[in-house]
Amino acid sequence: MATVVITPEMQRANAEALLGRDPGKYRDPGQRWTAKRYAEIQRLLKQTEADTPVTILNLNPFPLKINGGVYFPDQVPPCMPGEPYAVYVIKQTRWGHRDLGCDSQNMMQMEPVPAIPLVLAAEYIREFVQQEGGFGGVLCYVGTHDPRSFKKGAKIRIPEVAYNEQGEFYVEVRERDFHEALAAVRQKRNDSLLRRLQSANAWHENDSQRMNVNDAHRDMARLAFHEGLIPELPRWVMQSSTLMEKQPEPCPSCASQPKAGAILCVNCGHIFDVLAAYRNTRIAYGAVEMDRLTAEEWKVVHQIKTERDKAKGKAGA
Ligand SMILES: [Zn+2]
Repeated sequence: MATVVITPEMQRANAEALLGRDPGKYRDPGQRWTAKRYAEIQRLLKQTEADTPVTILNLNPFPLKINGGVYFPDQVPPCMPGEPYAVYVIKQTRWGHRDLGCDSQNMMQMEPVPAIPLVLAAEYIREFVQQEGGFGGVLCYVGTHDPRSFKKGAKIRIPEVAYNEQGEFYVEVRERDFHEALAAVRQKRNDSLLRRLQSANAWHENDSQRMNVNDAHRDMARLAFHEGLIPELPRWVMQSSTLMEKQPEPCPSCASQPKAGAILCVNCGHIFDVLAAYRNTRIAYGAVEMDRLTAEEWKVVHQIKTERDKAKGKAGA
């Protein structure tokens, strides 16, 4: 059997043939075969309307990106505070290929493999809604209908990923009530937002974890605040510039001006930040200053106390 050497030029021509507009243009029989397959598959998709565009609604404050190589170049834009969602339409089928090798006449065969909008959109549903631990906040439906014009009780068709008995993946289109489906993914998103913000709050309290709080958390906090999920913006959302400009309040005990971020007054020893003071062992558990702790801060104090007692117990054993 003769060895076929594939040059970069041939590879380039093959890739072009995968999206070949005109099969007659190609002299190489392999490329002609590929271009012809491409035209056939595309015609079939059009005839069956399998290439219908799909609309994606993103309720999340971050852009959506699927890791899937050539099939997922899209970046679905984030939802802005004040908006119910960002709207993005996958209009076109995306094409990859499968290398079938050479046939008995040494003709190279590259099979074009389509990923129709329906299948692409199902991947977003799988990752953000179906998957365990998915963030929520994503809804897809077949067609380009304007989501704002859906009336009460309007039905949409949602592509979802399903698996057959052999564990093979396929896409199932389910009919759902638009507003109910939207409410469900919004609820899941809200739960995720609050969970993430809780982590960010805990990190912020901890000197060694504070750098984990990033702009993604700040965007989540702004959206959560806007949606009324949290009564006020966390401290770590404030612009660093406004924090710098803002003078700390004078000490309530001696009225001297403390430095920004000071835990206690250098003049009279009044504790400004009770939680930080306990963490840094400037005060002991049960100190009178602890009467100023909030319920949330008490939780953190108990956590620290438990850890310290555990460490002490271990050392004693
Ligand atoms: Zn003071």
